[in-house]
Amino acid sequence: MSARARTADFAAVDRFLDRRLEASLAELSRLVAQPSVAAQGRGMEACAAQVAEMLRARGFAVETIPTPGHPVLLAERAGESERTLLIYNHYDVQPAEPLELWTSPPFEPALRDGRLYGRGVSDDKGHLMARLFAIDALLDARSALPCRVKFVIEGEEEIGSVHLPEFLVRHRERLAADACLWEFGYVDHRDMPLLHAGLRGIFYVELTVETAKRDAHSGLGGSIFPNAAWRLAWALSTLKGRDERILIPGFYDAVQPPSARDRERIAALAEVADEYRARYGVTSFLRGLTGGVELRIAEVFEPTCTICGLTAGYQGQGSKTVLPARASAKVDFRLVPDQNPEAVARQLRAHLDAQGFDDVRFEVLGKEPPGRTDPDHPFLELVSETAAPVYGMPMAILPMTGGSGPNHAFLHTLGVPVATAGLGYPDSRVHAPDENLRVDLYLKHAKHVARLLVAFGERG
Ligand SMILES: [Zn+2]
Repeated sequence: MSARARTADFAAVDRFLDRRLEASLAELSRLVAQPSVAAQGRGMEACAAQVAEMLRARGFAVETIPTPGHPVLLAERAGESERTLLIYNHYDVQPAEPLELWTSPPFEPALRDGRLYGRGVSDDKGHLMARLFAIDALLDARSALPCRVKFVIEGEEEIGSVHLPEFLVRHRERLAADACLWEFGYVDHRDMPLLHAGLRGIFYVELTVETAKRDAHSGLGGSIFPNAAWRLAWALSTLKGRDERILIPGFYDAVQPPSARDRERIAALAEVADEYRARYGVTSFLRGLTGGVELRIAEVFEPTCTICGLTAGYQGQGSKTVLPARASAKVDFRLVPDQNPEAVARQLRAHLDAQGFDDVRFEVLGKEPPGRTDPDHPFLELVSETAAPVYGMPMAILPMTGGSGPNHAFLHTLGVPVATAGLGYPDSRVHAPDENLRVDLYLKHAKHVARLLVAFGERG
């Protein structure tokens, strides 16, 4: 196909998308109006059925496959080329609480100032819908998709994709593909589209210590009973030093430092320090970091140990002289290649025991290994390049991002390169009240995906 014919093709595709935008947002709104809160098991089957129907309406063969948790949808439609793009999305959403902080009800999508508000509108229903919208546009202009497209759409992403890795192993043949488009992506605060080549892993635990059968009067027990809150505080203080170094023996053994190429790519990105200071009101960064490449490297290439929540004793109004019998803390470790959560679990147990805290137990609430695609992989270049006509610039390829997801299983079980691309932006408020998507970015993502599918089919 000549370059001219290609441009003409996209003119028709773009016209279709511009013209049908409102109808597509209406379809998205119906999907968002169907709650699907994995953590609460709310509306899951109904939402899966609705998504299956949306795919069938577009000529996909769809199967809803049960798992020990919520079902996974597999959908497939052949294309002109045998090259296969696997698209990963999820139909579950985060809980909408606290409801009183929403400007409009979370499951009644509302359009205001060029933004659509609602739980899941960005994460992840908007991404799924924009991709189906791109497929609609291609099918309007031609009789077949340019490449084979497979969807794997799970219902447990927001609760750690508990059953997905096993699912991918079991359905490896059916999921065979040449590359994978990830469930999300976003532009930065200057609207530059970003492509993440890797995700950090996560190891999430709840630490608990119990020192007595029941709470006691602090005047009675304060000088003779062990205190669960102190036990826990002391145990936590052994995990990380004041210099931010994590003190669990062996924790850093598998950490791969960023390569010269990683540094080069990171150096090409915009400065973020001032943006973070303004957005979060932080006045300084850890370890004396002030900005520049070193801040950005630390942001994604350093593993973390974060106290996410801490509970013990009395926390109501005024004072209560109580000696707590029980204390607990939720702690997450973000892991970088090639750390793995199983090893960290063993190291943490051994460390607590060695420090004299064998009474501090922990329950694993989530774990995902880190994973990354080579940032120079041709598929990533393709995803980046095909964004250029839509965004006015190619996507910036970032070697890693700070968040986590089940990409390790796609990379290692299915053996596909994974690229992120999507409609998020810094104020999407995913997981928070007033989650929203920018309509202009929704349209851009659909236009980008249409171009990506065509280019992907042609280069096979
Ligand atoms: Zn999410």
